[in-house]
Amino acid sequence: MPVDNGSELLKYYEVYETIGSGGFAKVKLGRHILTGEKVAIKIMDKKDLGDDLPRVKTEMEAMKNLSHQHVCRLYHIIETASRIYMVLEYCPGGELFDYIVAKDRLSEEETRVFFRQIISALAYVHSKGYAHRDLKPENLLIDEDHNLKLIDFGLCAKPKGGLGYELMTCCGSPAYAAPELIQGKAYIGSEADVWSMGVLLYALLCGYLPFDDDNCMILYRKITSGHYKNPHWLSPASILLLNQMMQVEPKRRLTVRQLLDHPWVMRGYSSPVEWHSTRPLGHIDEDCITEMAVAFKRSKRSTVQLVSEWKYDQTTATYLLLLAKKQRGRPVRLRAEACGQEPTCSPLQDIQLKKSLHFGEDDDYDDDDEEAVCRGRGGSLVFPLDCYDDGSNVMPKNTQATRTPHKKPTCQSSDKRHGDIGYSPVIGQGKSRPRNGEKRQRARENKENLAVPDPDTNVFALPAPITPVANRKGRPNKAAPTTPVNNNVLNAPAGPPKDVSHRKPGEQQQSGHQGGLEGLAFSPERRSRSLDMAACPGDSAQKRKAGKVFGSLERGLDKVITMLTPSKRRGPRDTPRRIKAQYNVTMTSQTNAEQVLNQILRILPEKNVDFVQKGYTLKCRTESDYGKVTMQFELEVCLLQKPEVVGIRRQRLKGDAWVYKHLVEDILSTTSV
Ligand code: ADP
Repeated sequence: MPVDNGSELLKYYEVYETIGSGGFAKVKLGRHILTGEKVAIKIMDKKDLGDDLPRVKTEMEAMKNLSHQHVCRLYHIIETASRIYMVLEYCPGGELFDYIVAKDRLSEEETRVFFRQIISALAYVHSKGYAHRDLKPENLLIDEDHNLKLIDFGLCAKPKGGLGYELMTCCGSPAYAAPELIQGKAYIGSEADVWSMGVLLYALLCGYLPFDDDNCMILYRKITSGHYKNPHWLSPASILLLNQMMQVEPKRRLTVRQLLDHPWVMRGYSSPVEWHSTRPLGHIDEDCITEMAVAFKRSKRSTVQLVSEWKYDQTTATYLLLLAKKQRGRPVRLRAEACGQEPTCSPLQDIQLKKSLHFGEDDDYDDDDEEAVCRGRGGSLVFPLDCYDDGSNVMPKNTQATRTPHKKPTCQSSDKRHGDIGYSPVIGQGKSRPRNGEKRQRARENKENLAVPDPDTNVFALPAPITPVANRKGRPNKAAPTTPVNNNVLNAPAGPPKDVSHRKPGEQQQSGHQGGLEGLAFSPERRSRSLDMAACPGDSAQKRKAGKVFGSLERGLDKVITMLTPSKRRGPRDTPRRIKAQYNVTMTSQTNAEQVLNQILRILPEKNVDFVQKGYTLKCRTESDYGKVTMQFELEVCLLQKPEVVGIRRQRLKGDAWVYKHLVEDILSTTSV
């Protein structure tokens, strides 16, 4: 396999700014050269992935088997010696999470539109034998037509005997996890998904989570009790539906099939949710084939043959992107100038890319130029869970014994039950099913590797995290407060204050009280982030190190893109940008941008937020006591047009979505803007 200098990707795609980042991946906007279609390119460095490589393979295999109007489509996989690129359908509307934050909460009517699409996606995914297991508003993206697309199948499971078979891996994001899952019981994937859908529905209707706490043990107790508050604005019908979905006892929960024509879901609609795919796998479109055959000077027959191999290579990508064009009512045409030749990296791109590999070992917070559109979220892993993301192993005593990094733990599984939606459940006919209580090894790809904890000693599958105090023992001393690279020295505008990289010296982040449950606080990025059972002590440090290498390569790629896109070569502005009010802009009542900027600059250190200032943009981040970046976001002071007031654009790049929401709200309210 050739060494990856990025040229393999650039043969087929133009690559632009970063639009998101997850636990493992950086996602960039791209353009498929042959069709001219925009795509999202998920870039993963194999070194960074380490033990999580199977998770990516799981995601790729699942996405190859899924083709649905509400599931993000996979077009192309490029694997090199060091990286994996997944080319995906581009969703320019951002995460559903950001949409909720912007709107505070959604009306019942708007929620219903989205929720019907979520049901449609899940009914389809379940009908294909998969449980998603990481449903949350960060994993639902909005496309250009304001429709939802489900992403992030890295934690999905496809039980060999069908979806009715029980699973064991405790994964997903704690705040969305079903009670049976966090208790370490065997569970049915589709039932756990319905619980998460209930949490999601609540988040849409209320703008906050039904079960929430910084302290993970308290959070788990809240979840297992199943008690949550129904705010006064919820209609009786919404209260009933939420209650039917968030039933602690999985068998009493609604099934996805029941959701399809549930009275709440049907209100204002004349038909049940359509869950069948309007773009089924394997369908061959005549027009696309004709265009490809003409462009590549092949017979139609051989083109059909080539496409039908579904290799997720350039052929698959070209076909699917042509089809996407057709579905949007655009001409089914390939770019003539790009056809008829073996795609190669242009000499300019090649030189620039090679240069880029030696670029930038700096540790700036964000490598994109100031106009890059970035969205992001905390990464998704499989949990067992250190509630602290600090590199220390915090498994509880009772589970630690069975979860050594080298030994695959065993688990119990019990009787099979038929898939709850029963469209075409793949029941393992003829296959012996695991008997109740029988221990067996779980497949690595599904990470079905959680040992059942001793019920006498711990009611939760998730370990009790160590207290911050215990945690700090023996941790490396942070010699000096973080001093981010100060880009301001070169680029300081005349208007806003000069260098303002801050962290209060000697200040520790608040981590809850000592001892008891009160001490068991989540690190900021953990609460609704999916977690990894296989996490081991060395992981974080290793990932940090690998991440730095990857980061620098990525910065290199960004640099190339900036060079290829001259309009983006501008430095920081000395005046605030004039923008239209959008859903990620907080409107203030003030008219003096500098004053607002200064207020934010004063407040950030008080909130333990490190930042780098570039003109009127503040690239912010928070860190754990161990120096791990827990959150990254941008705040930009800008001028709105109507009314002519100062606005603050906010953009989450990394970290727990709800923690980010609270922090930014806190900063902006304290700033009294
Ligand atoms: P990871 O698997 O590392 O968690 P994700 O697949 O969740 O990464 O992607 C990280 C973020 O990148 C998403 O939350 C989203 O903001 C952005 N993103 C991912 N896929 C797309 C896409 N197809 N279109 C637009 N943005 C995307």
